[in-house]
Amino acid sequence: MRKTLLFKVLSYEEYSKAVAELGKMGAQVEEIGFSLENRAIHCIKLGDGDIRILAICRLHGNEPATTNATLYFTYLYLDEGRIGGVPLKLALEKCTVAMIPAANPDGLAEYFKLYSKNPKPSWENPFTQARVNARGVDLNRDWLYLTQKETRCLHKFLNRFKPHIVLDMHEFYFKGGYPPQWPDSQDEFMISLTDTPYFMVSPTIKKLSLNLMQRVAEAFKEEGYSHWKTRLRWFVGEEKGADREVVIPAIFLGSHVPYEHSAKLLVETWGVGLGDYLLSDRVTIHALAIAHTALYAYEQSEAIKEAVSQSISEDLNHPSELFRVKGHPKAVADVRDLLELHDIKCSYLKDEVLVKLPQERSRMALILLDQNYELNRKLIEKRKFYTLNYVYNVHITKYS
Ligand SMILES: [Zn+2]
Repeated sequence: MRKTLLFKVLSYEEYSKAVAELGKMGAQVEEIGFSLENRAIHCIKLGDGDIRILAICRLHGNEPATTNATLYFTYLYLDEGRIGGVPLKLALEKCTVAMIPAANPDGLAEYFKLYSKNPKPSWENPFTQARVNARGVDLNRDWLYLTQKETRCLHKFLNRFKPHIVLDMHEFYFKGGYPPQWPDSQDEFMISLTDTPYFMVSPTIKKLSLNLMQRVAEAFKEEGYSHWKTRLRWFVGEEKGADREVVIPAIFLGSHVPYEHSAKLLVETWGVGLGDYLLSDRVTIHALAIAHTALYAYEQSEAIKEAVSQSISEDLNHPSELFRVKGHPKAVADVRDLLELHDIKCSYLKDEVLVKLPQERSRMALILLDQNYELNRKLIEKRKFYTLNYVYNVHITKYS
């Protein structure tokens, strides 16, 4: 199976078989929930060190290399092997790596069906209906309101695992036609790395994400992937730059894993539409990203812990505030459920929810509840409403 992962797009059955086999070989495998069509969402955990790294893969069903990469990584780890220059047992000595190989298993199954009918690598074959879940929702736009079964399940795991680092693994699509053209002009690239902490994260977390991004980019070159042209990007809305003051579109928050106390790196390879074309490169690149992130954690474990605890203490030192959410009992109950999914502590009475700050998720509470929070104020100016009162039709009062 191990070698096959470099060349073959997997069906859901083959994927499940591989996961079961890895479990028997000694990986910690857990079913963290189920998709709309009742397929298991697995988590594979390796190592038991203090630094927690979470790799979320295949949120989009038509991005197959990410799934294969986690399985490939696991086989090599269990065999005490290496990926590129990284000896995996050593690299994972100080960390626990949790991997979700298929966050959207219904999308995976749909992709395999379409791919089997038409395996030709072509940019005209993006199989967009496999990108989304069984209800047609793009799960990577659902991180804020968590309306789907899959995002809820992932989020519960996230709150339990509390990662120091999140790797958000994707593949991308551009151009069109057959055969696929190698990107060559100035603006084209084959790997993109995006430093993804959004607007209001701690400066320590921003710095950590940036360092990790640069480190992984460097590693791709050292490992002989210079011919896969890498682009470094920052998520600050529609503009480039690490510290630029911009108003980000409302949808933007929904496209980030909303857990502020972790560094995040979005890793993408040129792959949607390619089927199994160049799969071994695409799989290896994603596996290298995990391996070098683990190595980074091995070398920088103290600095990482320090940055995360600084971020948490900033939330815990937020000024005292109280939010009261009132409205129709059903709407108020929905708001309570959402706050709890985001791990925001609240108390609930029949038709109201009370949220007290400070707490460990102060920033997330402000994003959801406070229209006067700097970011929300800017969004409201631009008429991009997204605080809870608009979406759930509730009334929010703030007491300082
Ligand atoms: Zn994607």
